Amino acid sequence: MAGILPVFFPFAACGNRCVFCDQRAITRTAEREDVLSSAACQIEKWKGFAPHWEELAFYGGNFGALPPGVRKELYGLAEAYGIKGVRFSTRPDTITDDLISEIKNSRVTFVELGVQSLDDRVLALNGRPYGGKDVFRAVERVLSAVPCGVQLMTGMYAQRAYSSVDDAKALAKTGISAARIYPTLVLRDTELFSLMERGLYRPLDLAGALLSAAGMYTVFKSEDIQVIRMGLPEDAAEDGHVAAGPRHKAFGDLVKTLVVLLYFRCGGRCRFFGYKGMVRRLFKDAFPSDESSGGVGFGHICRRVRRYFLEDSQRFLEGEAAYFAERLVREAYYR
Ligand code: SF4
Repeated sequence: MAGILPVFFPFAACGNRCVFCDQRAITRTAEREDVLSSAACQIEKWKGFAPHWEELAFYGGNFGALPPGVRKELYGLAEAYGIKGVRFSTRPDTITDDLISEIKNSRVTFVELGVQSLDDRVLALNGRPYGGKDVFRAVERVLSAVPCGVQLMTGMYAQRAYSSVDDAKALAKTGISAARIYPTLVLRDTELFSLMERGLYRPLDLAGALLSAAGMYTVFKSEDIQVIRMGLPEDAAEDGHVAAGPRHKAFGDLVKTLVVLLYFRCGGRCRFFGYKGMVRRLFKDAFPSDESSGGVGFGHICRRVRRYFLEDSQRFLEGEAAYFAERLVREAYYR
């Protein structure tokens, strides 16, 4: 049985235009008035690849702001296609008591909140219609019904580099079970593009984005929170839509390589394949000569890195970790 069948509704019930967003470019799905027939079309397409799916996921737009009748019919689609669970992503400000009772009485098993930042000023300047406190209220309400995941960005307009690591620290304490980490990319036809053209915004470079994402990843994994994705999928925004920003086809792998490298720097040892191989190949001088025994997972690695490097997010982003991020980009990026 296949896992999660994704259905995208670009801008559906959104009523907003965040400065960075052009969902039609990201999802490569045309905006459709009729979300039900769009959903059915997309499900049919995926059914062609695999006949049975565990969960139906509704992404894009603002699922929680769709009319309740439409949401009910969307849950019904899962039943009609023999899919047991439903998950969706939505903005924190759409989590109302009514939506929570609906979730409790439906086949919804998981809700992802498009948080992006906890900083009120950053949220306002990026066109997000809620504040940091609303996020915590929304997480708490979702958790009263089903497990909750969050999406966070780094390198947003007006965002300090280390504030995204602090956001991860604050959210990791709330009981969430999953996170996605997205470095901000500049898409054409967005307000962010125009801010960049006017010299008012500069995207993170790749090393800066890796470093921030490594900090966030370390925080989440050290609390056993699953990191579902880091960076947009390579084929998610092509055809010239991305004008600038820290994009790399193996962004998540580079983040994990950086974390493993930092683990060695703080005295950690492991028999850990894959990422360790890359560190050994690229950083002979930093690789430990006394390779030791036990295999360890990223939870252990991240707890150690967090203890040694991440007490102070600012120092992490400006100290030795920054040096290694830049070196990793130099060594690995152009290979
Ligand atoms: S990011 Fe979400 S809320 Fe913002 S414009 Fe895009 S769809 Fe709407």
